[in-house]
Amino acid sequence: MNDNVFLLISSLSVPSAIFAEIALKPKKYRFLIPVVFSLPSLMFSFYRIEFIISAFVCFISFTIFPKRQNTEIKNSDSDLFKIKNIFEKEKKEFEKAAENEKRFSALYVIIKTLSETFDLKTPAVLLKEKISVYLNAKEVSMFLVKENSAEKIFGEDELSSVLEYSQGFEKEDFIFSNDRFYYAFRDGQTVFFFFSVLSQENPEIIKEKLEDLSLEIFPALKRISLFARIDELSVIDGLTGVYRRGAFDEKLSFEFSRAKTFKTSLGLMILDIDHFKKINDSYGHQAGDAVLKKVAEIIRENVYETDFVARYGGEEFALIMPRAQADGALRKAEYIRKLIESEVFEAGAEKIKITVSAGIAHYPKDAQKIEELINKADSALYKAKESGRNRICEWKE
Ligand code: GH3
Ligand code: MG
Ligand code: MG
Repeated sequence: MNDNVFLLISSLSVPSAIFAEIALKPKKYRFLIPVVFSLPSLMFSFYRIEFIISAFVCFISFTIFPKRQNTEIKNSDSDLFKIKNIFEKEKKEFEKAAENEKRFSALYVIIKTLSETFDLKTPAVLLKEKISVYLNAKEVSMFLVKENSAEKIFGEDELSSVLEYSQGFEKEDFIFSNDRFYYAFRDGQTVFFFFSVLSQENPEIIKEKLEDLSLEIFPALKRISLFARIDELSVIDGLTGVYRRGAFDEKLSFEFSRAKTFKTSLGLMILDIDHFKKINDSYGHQAGDAVLKKVAEIIRENVYETDFVARYGGEEFALIMPRAQADGALRKAEYIRKLIESEVFEAGAEKIKITVSAGIAHYPKDAQKIEELINKADSALYKAKESGRNRICEWKE
């Protein structure tokens, strides 16, 4: 072969090597291109410059290329590492966003629940659950401060130990002790409510969350506690709509003096729902409340205007009957007992049947003093219960 052709072919090995490195970068075996172009000079041109060039290009292709490949692997490793980092960062951000969403939807439920209620006991379980989610806490207890005592709204923390801490609130609002956080929220100078929280979170984060939560729930709690104060001052029982025990005591005292002064009579009946605990246990407290409400309504609607109905205790009602004669009072009591016995109480989907027992005592026939009258009506009620329930008993010696 002519020298010029050798020279041309072997000189092509150099640009082909460069071309292979640049243009065919991602292709495997690209180093073969300069080798192929170098072959003729390698075969036919010993000791010539073309041979030296071709050998050099082949050497470069075999030695540098694998190194390049290694660095590319390393580079692609570091690319992977970068992607992994980005992915993990995004995952963390996503988890944080999901966590925030969970927290804020818990806060929404807390505020909504508080804005719809007049008492804190009914939604206590829900509040406890959502506040735990909001704070990311293992355990949360909440206390409402009333004058010098603290009333537990929910939680496992014992009041006695908490009361010790509440004294600590005199100095500061946030106390951290034995993995527990205590945070007091003040209405003006005085502690209005406080939390006891068991959590692994950073104290600063817990503090911030407790402050935010407290600010959010404060208006609703203020409204609820004002409502409770008004309710306490009221003479009417909030659940049943009849008079409370305090109003009953005053009214009985007044009617007793009047009967004494005008030498008239006075009947007192104490009525108690039979096995009421079972109603609560079988159908729930709310069903029990609905029954109490309806019983009060039945009694109120079937007595004289001048009669006085009160809620005497949990599921006990008292009826003061001014100027009542014994037979008339018994007839009325029997009538009410039968009405209640035949009533079908509805609480949601439940249909409930109940009975009541009652005891009656009279002034001046059975008692000369108020306490005596009450005790005798009570004894008669006890007798009605003892002798089989669902009946009315008058006091007898
Ligand atoms: P007895 O026939 O002997 O009277 O039995 P009882 O189950 O009615 O009497 P007990 O005194 O054992 O239980 C009274 C129940 O009344 C227990 C208490 O939880 C319930 N109770 C008291 N106040 C309320 C209330 O406001 N709402 C409801 N749902 N239950 C109440
Ligand atoms: Mg009772
Ligand atoms: Mg009862």
